[in-house]
Amino acid sequence: MKDIKCCVVVVGAGPAGMAAAISAKKNGAEKVIIIERENRTGGILKQCIHAGFGLQYFGEELTGPEYAEKFSVLANETGIEFMLNTTALEIKDKTLVCVNTEGIVNIHFGALVLAMGCRERTRANLVIPGSRPAGIYSAGTAQKLINIFGHKVGKEVVILGSGDIGMIMARRLSLGGAKVKAVVEIMPYLAGLVRNKAQCLDDFGIPLMLSHTVVDIIGVDRVEAVTIAPVDENRQPIMEKAETISCDTLLLSVGLIPENELTRSADVALSGITKGAIVNQYKQTDKPYIFACGNVLHVNDLVDHVSHESEDAGKYAALYAAGKLESADELAVEPGDGVRYVCPQKMACVDDNVDLYFRTAAPGRNTTLTISDDSGVLVTKKLIRTTPGTIEKLTIPADKAKNAIGKIVVKAEHKEA
Ligand SMILES: Cc1cc2nc3c(=O)[nH]c(=O)nc-3n(C[C@H](O)[C@H](O)[C@H](O)COP(=O)(O)OP(=O)(O)OC[C@H]3O[C@@H](n4cnc5c(N)ncnc54)[C@H](O)[C@@H]3O)c2cc1C
Repeated sequence: MKDIKCCVVVVGAGPAGMAAAISAKKNGAEKVIIIERENRTGGILKQCIHAGFGLQYFGEELTGPEYAEKFSVLANETGIEFMLNTTALEIKDKTLVCVNTEGIVNIHFGALVLAMGCRERTRANLVIPGSRPAGIYSAGTAQKLINIFGHKVGKEVVILGSGDIGMIMARRLSLGGAKVKAVVEIMPYLAGLVRNKAQCLDDFGIPLMLSHTVVDIIGVDRVEAVTIAPVDENRQPIMEKAETISCDTLLLSVGLIPENELTRSADVALSGITKGAIVNQYKQTDKPYIFACGNVLHVNDLVDHVSHESEDAGKYAALYAAGKLESADELAVEPGDGVRYVCPQKMACVDDNVDLYFRTAAPGRNTTLTISDDSGVLVTKKLIRTTPGTIEKLTIPADKAKNAIGKIVVKAEHKEA
């Protein structure tokens, strides 16, 4: 058993963990360590070889590995220590218990940042009837097999779920010579970003079937076809309208689950909606020495948001470790009409701008977004169009954040559906 002391320890060397660690270092934390279970930094970005990263953060369009590489270089230059091939197992008060080839390593920290990302929902989560043939993959697994290991996953493909990974894989498979027969989405609207529908489905002539789902998988050794059916307003399949599509591969792109097993070991309060920790604007959980950021906090659309949010987590973790993060009265931040969730869920009333990230509950046009407290409206923004697939950000200016009273509520009102 080995014991190490540090100011700030970060779990996960994805874009969230690296941004948090760099920010912690820049904000005065002397010894910052990142724990990563894989043998390389970069997290999920290693397999995202398409462009589309960094437009907001770096002002240029990068591939996932290029975006990650910029942070890896910066982290090395800043003097961050990496412990690769090391898995964080448990949090016991202010000790992170890890394991690697040397055995158990106990890391005693001043503050901890959770940045473990998320994993994909699987067929087991969905309970689709049918046999268990080969040819069924989660979209991210297929992406790894193709982009990292150079395998071909199938020739004729149906994709269940219109999230970003599913749409990006529809394009990737088409570029690789496969025929993507349809992207099937149970909801009446797109789950991912509108730009991904344009670039990954429309440009390749791939049909998007909204309000449809897969009700059966046919095939014994290998997938031979899937049966799909439209769904009613309660998302129940209308079986008399079911049809069969022949294919050898079914990709599941049906959502992501923040990896919070470690968070639970510390008994941190979690949100039932985001499935991530409940935090204030510092990304500080109800255990004041534990911070959370990136996809483990809430599933993000753009890595640029992840980097910004994670810088806050790292900065305030460093201040906490140095005893410089003063506590202040906190107000609850809640989703109101038309909003699915807001992160953070709490706001300390201090003299500083507060960024709120949120998703709307349904798509709409001519949308008015508002943030109110018990005294009235604090912030308003009008948008031509909003969709649940896109994360919105509104900022409460410092003077209003400091004097806010009661409860903070975020609302979205659409003039047109
Ligand atoms: C397929 C796909 C396509 C995407 N396309 C785009 C795009 O075009 N543009 C864009 O801006 N964004 C895109 N994104 C979103 C973006 O990639 C993510 O928001 C971002 O990578 C999340 O970063 P993260 O650091 O929170 O998580 P991750 O990148 O998942 O990193 C988490 C890290 O934590 C490590 N870890 C987990 N648990 C432990 C443990 N117990 N001990 C040690 N290490 C652990 C993991 O190994 C991993 O390295 C895409 C995402 C996916 C999945």
